Amino acid sequence: MTIRTRVAPSPTGSPHLGTAYVALFNRAFAHQNDGKFVLRIEDTDKERSDSASDQAIQDALRWLGLNWDEGPDVGGPFGPYRCSERLKIYHDLIAELVSIGGAFYCFCSKERLDTVRTNQRQQGLVPKYDGHCLELSAQEIQAHLEKDAPHVIRLKVPSEGACVFQDALRGSIEIPWEQVDMQVLLKSDRYPTYHFAASVDDHLMEISHIFRGEEWLSSCPKHQLIYSYFGWEQPELIHLPLLRNPDQTKLSKRRQSTSINYFRRCGFLPEALLNYLATMGFSMPDEQEKFTREEFQEAFTPSRLSTSGPVFDLTKLSWLNGQYIRELPLTDFKGILGEWAFGEGRAEAILRLVQSRTERFDDVFVQADYLLGERATVTLESFSHKQISTEECVKVLYFSLQLLEHLKRWDSDVISEGLKQLATVIGMKVRVFLFPLFVAISGRQVSLPLFDSIELLGKDVVSARLHSAIQALGGVSKKATKRLETEWRELESEMIFEVEEN
Ligand code: GLU
Repeated sequence: MTIRTRVAPSPTGSPHLGTAYVALFNRAFAHQNDGKFVLRIEDTDKERSDSASDQAIQDALRWLGLNWDEGPDVGGPFGPYRCSERLKIYHDLIAELVSIGGAFYCFCSKERLDTVRTNQRQQGLVPKYDGHCLELSAQEIQAHLEKDAPHVIRLKVPSEGACVFQDALRGSIEIPWEQVDMQVLLKSDRYPTYHFAASVDDHLMEISHIFRGEEWLSSCPKHQLIYSYFGWEQPELIHLPLLRNPDQTKLSKRRQSTSINYFRRCGFLPEALLNYLATMGFSMPDEQEKFTREEFQEAFTPSRLSTSGPVFDLTKLSWLNGQYIRELPLTDFKGILGEWAFGEGRAEAILRLVQSRTERFDDVFVQADYLLGERATVTLESFSHKQISTEECVKVLYFSLQLLEHLKRWDSDVISEGLKQLATVIGMKVRVFLFPLFVAISGRQVSLPLFDSIELLGKDVVSARLHSAIQALGGVSKKATKRLETEWRELESEMIFEVEEN
């Protein structure tokens, strides 16, 4: 059997550390066994997927040296490798699944589904589909379809018994069918859901082993059902432990940026980041911590994986990165650093901002320090200002984060337009509104032009700085987050500015 593995990211945001983490293990396992490693772009969410994110994921994986043998750009015998280009395949197979009795049409309205869920919650039950449309006769279904009634197609789930499946790390896992929802497989926009697309594609692409995050364990019964209805053989499953913060909570961007681009912009070397990720849940036979990708590939065996959540510790990663940096010959150090600081047009962009504010050359570096390196540490005092309270500063930073994270075009005009409008709908003077942003971004109350700085630093660094500034201001409790979220939704609806560009 040819070993075939895959990584299947969804292009709905910045390239995630978790994608590199699973890609690393899938790739090493395939290549160690003379197999193939596939990149599949799971753009099953039509609204949230975007081509910039698709490209950014590919760039980030390539930067890390995790290139693939088959994928959307390089092609391969099992293409296309992007779900949105495979709709005909899903449509044909879903029709087959309906005809063999593994799936059914559901015409329930959103209102009905909401009422069912609310009632279930009130009774202390876990909300799930109640099987209403399972009762429809063939004639009723036909009549609905002839009227072009909006519908989805759902998975038929046994009402009794349990699903038993194997995980190579965790052994036999049993989940009662009662806990499994009648999952939507084909949405009303005729796009498949992740569950259907992944099952179909893993089968058709002859994927033999799936290394993925443990958050997908609970989805396995749905996939197993799809496989068994079609009479397909399920790939081997290996669920990797979730990456954790030092306090054992799940790694989340509020605490620590999870974007690969963030680590790139902060000056980590791809070799070091990859090396560190390889120590997450895996240990080398001699327990050594620093090793090359080739050494890892040679030594990797699933039996040395652990199920307990590895801690992703920035201090440890920085230490490891330092080992790699110190080993560089001086010319490489100079070349890599120069490219990191001034490559891709950054030199021109920074100089354009500082030239008009420069009297002596030594002014340049003082002004641009926060664009070239980490900004100064900010504290509560950094935000003290006569016209804006701490609470208002938090609000401004929180809402700006929401706005900036949803911008699809990252340029200073769009950023400026969005933030200024936000100030207006909040009812604040633009100058006052921008104050906490200046501090959060530059570490100073006065800096180079703010919107250009935001553009230059990029979404991931900006987002990390805003999160860290909010922490410096005392953070936001869970309760306050809920309140701010509601307020944000109201503000968003008042803004004429288009946050999401289509
Ligand atoms: N599209 C899923 C993700 O973004 C893939 C999950 C899987 O590997 O099956 O993580």
